[in-house]
Amino acid sequence: MGTIINGKELAEKLQDATAVEVKELEKAGLRPGLVVLLVGENAASQTYVKNKQLAAQRIGIHSKVMRYPATISEDELLKEIEHFNQAEEFHGILVQLPLPKHIDEEKVLLAIDPIKDVDGFHPMNLGRLFAGAPHMIPCTPYGIMKMFEAYEISLAGKQAVIIGRSNIVGKPMAHLLLAENATVTIAHSKTANLPELAKKADILIVAIGQGHFVTKEFIKPGAVVIDVGMNRNEAGKLIGDVKFDEVEPIAGFITPVPRGVGPMTITMLMQQTVEACRRQKLGE
Ligand code: NDP
Repeated sequence: MGTIINGKELAEKLQDATAVEVKELEKAGLRPGLVVLLVGENAASQTYVKNKQLAAQRIGIHSKVMRYPATISEDELLKEIEHFNQAEEFHGILVQLPLPKHIDEEKVLLAIDPIKDVDGFHPMNLGRLFAGAPHMIPCTPYGIMKMFEAYEISLAGKQAVIIGRSNIVGKPMAHLLLAENATVTIAHSKTANLPELAKKADILIVAIGQGHFVTKEFIKPGAVVIDVGMNRNEAGKLIGDVKFDEVEPIAGFITPVPRGVGPMTITMLMQQTVEACRRQKLGE
C-alpha cells in the first residue's frame, strides 16, 4: 500500500510558517499584498480565486480581488495591469486564467512586471527557470517539489515521466526535476505506447485533465505517483487523472484528489507573494 501524500496537511503547515514570516515583516512595517484579476464568470475560476483569498486571509497577506466583465477589452485589461504594476501596496499580481477568447493571454502575461509575477508564468520567469536560475516558479510544480522534500523522496538518478506538456505544469516540472538530477521524459497526447513508458517511471507526474485516465497498467510497483488533474465526473465530484483506488495499492507514494496538489499550489502562491514583497521592499 502506498503512502498517501497529504497535501492539505503539508499546505497548512507551510502556511503557518509563512504566517509567522508575515508577522515578522509587519514588525518592520511591511504587509505583503496580492491582487487577483478575475475576468468573467467562469465557475471554476471563481472557486480558485475564493480559495486563494481564504489562504491569504489565513496567512495575513493583504489581498484584493478585482472583478471585470467578460466584455472588458484587451486594452482596458492591460491598463489595469499597468496600474497594479505601479501600485506600491501590491507585491504580487495574478491574472486568473483562462481569459475570454478576444483577449490574448500571452500579451496579458507579458504585461505583468516579472518582479510581481507570483504565478511565475511570465516568459522572463520561465526563461530563468529553464536557465537554471529561477526567481518566480509556477506554483503547481513548485508545490510538488515541496512535497518531495517533505516526504524525503529522493530524485537524483531517478527516472521521472511527466504526462502533460503545458507551460504551467508539465514543462516547468521537467526543469525542476532536472535541476534535482532526475532523468526526465515528457509525454503528451501524441506519445506512443504511453502505459509502457509510464511503467518505467520511478516518479510519475500526471497533468492532463482526463478523469481517471491513468490505471494500474501505467504504474511500476513502488513508484511515486503525483496526480495534478482536477476533473468533474458525471456526478459533479472532483476527481484526479489517476484511478486512485487501483493505483494506490501498488504505488510507493501517491497524492489524492482533492487534498493533494491543489492546496500546495495555493500555498506556493502565498509564499511567492511574501518573497516578492521581500525582494521589492528589502532588496533580498
Ligand atoms: P493543458 O490542457 O494545458 O495540457 C494538458 C496536457 O495533457 C497537454 O500537453 C496534452 O497533450 C496532454 N494530454 C491530454 N490528453 C492526453 C492523453 N490522453 N494522453 C497523454 N497526454 C494527454 O492542461 P494543464 O497543464 O493546464 O492542466 C492539466 C490538469 O491539471 C487539468 O486537469 C487541470 O485542471 C489541472 N491543474 C491542477 C492544478 C492544481 O493546482 N491541482 C493547477 C493546474 C492545473 P498535447 O500537448 O499533445 O495536447
